[in-house]
Amino acid sequence: MTNRHALASLALLLALSAEAKAPRLTLFIAVDSMGSDVFLRMKPRYKAGFDKVLREGAFFPVARYDYAETVTAAGHTTLATGANPWRHGVISNKILNRATGKLEPIFTDPNHPVLEAPPAIEDSSPAALKAETLSDRLTLFTQGKGKSISIAAKARAAIAMGGKLGRAFWFSEATGKFVSGTYYLKELPTWVKAFDDKKPADQWFGKEWALIDNPKTYEGEDDRVGESDWYGLGKKFPHPLSGGQPQPGPQSYSALASSAMFNELTVAFAKAAIDGEGLGKDDVPDLLSVSFSSVDRTFHLWGPYSWEMQDQLLRLDRAIADLIAAAEKAAGKGNVLVVISADHGGANVPEQWAAAGMEGHRLSPVELEKELDKELTAKATGAHFVAAIEETDLYLDQKAIADKKLDLATVRRAAAASLAKNPWVELAVSRDDLWGPDPSPGYLPALRAGFFAERSGDVLFITRPFTVLEVEPAGTSHGTPYAYDNEVPAIFWGKGVKSGTFAGPIRVVDIASTTAALMELGEPAQSEGSARDAAISGR
Ligand SMILES: [Zn+2]
Repeated sequence: MTNRHALASLALLLALSAEAKAPRLTLFIAVDSMGSDVFLRMKPRYKAGFDKVLREGAFFPVARYDYAETVTAAGHTTLATGANPWRHGVISNKILNRATGKLEPIFTDPNHPVLEAPPAIEDSSPAALKAETLSDRLTLFTQGKGKSISIAAKARAAIAMGGKLGRAFWFSEATGKFVSGTYYLKELPTWVKAFDDKKPADQWFGKEWALIDNPKTYEGEDDRVGESDWYGLGKKFPHPLSGGQPQPGPQSYSALASSAMFNELTVAFAKAAIDGEGLGKDDVPDLLSVSFSSVDRTFHLWGPYSWEMQDQLLRLDRAIADLIAAAEKAAGKGNVLVVISADHGGANVPEQWAAAGMEGHRLSPVELEKELDKELTAKATGAHFVAAIEETDLYLDQKAIADKKLDLATVRRAAAASLAKNPWVELAVSRDDLWGPDPSPGYLPALRAGFFAERSGDVLFITRPFTVLEVEPAGTSHGTPYAYDNEVPAIFWGKGVKSGTFAGPIRVVDIASTTAALMELGEPAQSEGSARDAAISGR
């Protein structure tokens, strides 16, 4: 080999080894309530961040959740762990506390409350998390040198993505500030205090959420059947953000957290984290997980087809461009990996489905609970056997049943049989029969993947397609195994990503695997997914 050739090979080798390093900064973005349906419908209208990652990245239009109870805490935990709830344990947003007989947020931890907040039963620590997250993996892999920060308006989203070893921050609608928990920190870092001291949420008080584009470009009507009116926001644009109050307070903070304006606040806080923590500054990989929570609130209040949801995604498109630019500024162009997905999709407003000719139906869990309790206790006067219904979980009052000297499994099976007779219920099964034959057209495996014995209900059930289990008289929800709830997009962009659109469905559990492969970490411990080679350039 001549000297010239040797030098050329050395240069190539050096270039390759620089190329082969893991991304300095990974942005792991979850959009709360962005199903494939709504994302694809809006696709032609993206001009900023979404447009960029779709053109240059690897796009999987459909990633499916394996389990039935498609809600925020479960979805974020599955995105972060590559596991289903039967392994990670985060089956729902709330579970029954058998000691008190009350539903509690799943990340409630009396030993580790929210920092500098009065005692409350609320999400505050990852104690309930039973699986390793990408955040934990990174921290262990880099022996603590790689930083992991997670941010969301909702505590349950931030906690799920932060795992046991990262640090999670979320927005308190009681105080209008970003907070954390004593699990993570003794006191808030200087950059968080500095951010909060400027009272950024108060700056939106007295302002309104107006359309970002020409009204002619929005599909359908602004005011539709079944839309909600909460926190003084009203049903039509422009939406006042003052919560109907004379000064900033919990009502105006909730109004803000339900509006598309909150995306800007989330990005501002994420940028403060990048600067404050020095993310992306060296070759040790860092992870910044961000969940855009207000999209979900907008979805619940006005529905997936609303002008509000359209405006949310148009504004999110810009917010994501802004966030990617900040990450590239910190880590350098070519050193950033971006992953975007969602924790679940969502149902249309049932009255709008019905008007369109589908079997849209609004089913109140409270009514369902009452009916069932009446039937179950027909021979046990004065007793109440139903403790609570939370999405697909029906909890029975085991103590009340024992007091009446009844066999628990018999009562569970009776409850399942009674629920199954309801015309709006597709399938109901006692936990005793969960591993038996599937009486439904193939939905039982989705209940199994979401079952965690010490936390799940006594009876598991799934409503009929187009039936929305919702206690409110307006708005809509999610939480079923149907495509509108369980299909979300998955996008990978940046370092190590091979671009392309891959139309065939993947599993949501593949997202953590693919991210781990791109970050060159190895899989989270209980991962059920497989890295999608199609998205990986291999360099
Ligand atoms: Zn939701």
